[in-house]
Amino acid sequence: MRIVMVGSGYVGLVSGACFADFGHEVVCVDKAVEKIEALRQGVIPIFEPGLDQLVENNVKAGRLSFSTELAGPVSEADVVFIAVGTPSRRGDGHADLGYVHAAAEEIARAVSGFTVVVTKSTVPVGTGDEVERIIRETNPEADVAVVSNPEFLREGAAIEDFKRPDRIVVGLSDERARPVMTEVYRPLYLNQSPLLFTSRRTSELIKYAANAFLAMKITFINEVADLCEKVGADIQDVSRGIGLDGRIGSKFLHAGPGYGGSCFPKDTLALAKTAQDYDSPVRLIETTIAINDSRKRAMGRKVIAAVGGEVRGKKVAVFGLTFKPNTDDMRDSPAIAIVQALKDAGAIVSGYDPEGMGNARQMMEIEFAGSPYEAATDAHVAVLVTEWNAFRALDLDRLKSLMASPVLVDLRNVYRAHEVEAHGFAYHSIGKG
Ligand code: NAD
Repeated sequence: MRIVMVGSGYVGLVSGACFADFGHEVVCVDKAVEKIEALRQGVIPIFEPGLDQLVENNVKAGRLSFSTELAGPVSEADVVFIAVGTPSRRGDGHADLGYVHAAAEEIARAVSGFTVVVTKSTVPVGTGDEVERIIRETNPEADVAVVSNPEFLREGAAIEDFKRPDRIVVGLSDERARPVMTEVYRPLYLNQSPLLFTSRRTSELIKYAANAFLAMKITFINEVADLCEKVGADIQDVSRGIGLDGRIGSKFLHAGPGYGGSCFPKDTLALAKTAQDYDSPVRLIETTIAINDSRKRAMGRKVIAAVGGEVRGKKVAVFGLTFKPNTDDMRDSPAIAIVQALKDAGAIVSGYDPEGMGNARQMMEIEFAGSPYEAATDAHVAVLVTEWNAFRALDLDRLKSLMASPVLVDLRNVYRAHEVEAHGFAYHSIGKG
């Protein structure tokens, strides 16, 4: 199959490289000239484990190429994926579909022959109808089937997720697209990944319902963690105790500073807006959003409380800035709200992240350190925000010797209290009464 990915970010580039690895002929297109230039030089513009090797192999094999120009590749394609961003819109927070609509228009002008146009971006219910309308209005001659195929990969484990998905969801109304999509995913389908065909609107809603459910699960355990602190219980034991129940499941039951990242915050908000528009509000999700929003800043207050309630002029070391480990993605990272709360209270913040410093520099004004130890030098408190492996076995004696006062706030429950305390630290974690 000849495939074009429109948008070569976290989703477009990973999907494109994986499709090429399946044996398809793939062109990854992006408007960002510097991204395409970098890719052509063999430089991967994002951090995603294993992606450099996958891209290199498939470029060498002649199955993967990069272009800033959409028209040529689209005119020759069997399938065109839209994988552009759908960020929250300024003002009302609903999904900004500007990039999707612009891509649809460009694709419409370029298609020739029967082409399956697939929306892989996360888009509100009804967007497929709109994409189809835009294509038909822009080019009445275009022979397209518009399909929804949401992506469920997780940054940091994106290739594994793409190649071994729990399921592949394909929403379509034009039956001509079914064999094409089956062919696109043949290797996975042969490997027993369930391929779920639904209507287009159902497929669009599945993506939001899945993300909203996961966000709700995280928020649930975070609230139970707060209760644990009050009643003298241990959240990790509670999580295990409920997670072993097969109806609940153990994943997404890790209490922490609140969910962030490029998907959950914007997707929960967009689902809430869609539901309101259809006069069928999703109150559980509205509440989830509100709880999570206030939680992130509350984590800043937790740090301040750990140093006696006054942080003005004191140095705070922040370990981890990205929204989760193994990515350089800073979008909506809890670290942003936590750092802001600390700075608002007058703290001097020094941060370190193994991969996220480049993006963090664009988003926050703090001191950037070359290691956790440098960040912690003369600090009154260190806060573990993101559970990178690099922070799992810190040299606690060294850390203590560098800090002005040995206080560790562990927002990911990476350490055990007695171990840290044995090194002379005051230790604060999440949900341990
Ligand atoms: P991203 O910002 O990393 O990438 C989007 C890319 O699209 C950018 O490089 C941008 O330059 C490019 N672009 C925009 N308009 C274009 C156009 N008209 N032509 C060519 N290129 C264009 O975004 P992302 O994280 O890859 O997310 C893309 C979509 O996938 C979003 O809807 C997101 O919600 C969804 N999604 C993301 C993830 C994730 O983990 N990042 C997972 C599942 C789904």
